[in-house]
Amino acid sequence: MINSRLYADILSENSRFLNFEFNHDEIIMGKYRIEYQRSGCIGAGVCAALADKHWVMADDGKADLVGSHKEGELHVLEIDEADLDCNKQAAEGCPANIIHIIDKETGKKII
Ligand code: SF4
Repeated sequence: MINSRLYADILSENSRFLNFEFNHDEIIMGKYRIEYQRSGCIGAGVCAALADKHWVMADDGKADLVGSHKEGELHVLEIDEADLDCNKQAAEGCPANIIHIIDKETGKKII
């Protein structure tokens, strides 16, 4: 699966060859933004149990947010409505409280 940011980066890189104006922000489709502070993960695995499409346990015992990119300390992934519920459950279940979801339209933190 290719994530929207990677797709946008590829399009952006190639747009000059394809001769069109490219706005990087227009292709980022996710309505919500997951922010994950991986350094605080205690490896409880709740996220991977509740939302295995997006969360997997890595060899170092911490969770990886599949398809995310790094922004400073945070691992970030944009998702649509269809993926909101399972990730909300993962965030609510995380004992370390290091998974947060932001509504991009309002800028409000959902959890
Ligand atoms: S639920 Fe939280 S603490 Fe547990 S593995 Fe997932 S991110 Fe880490």
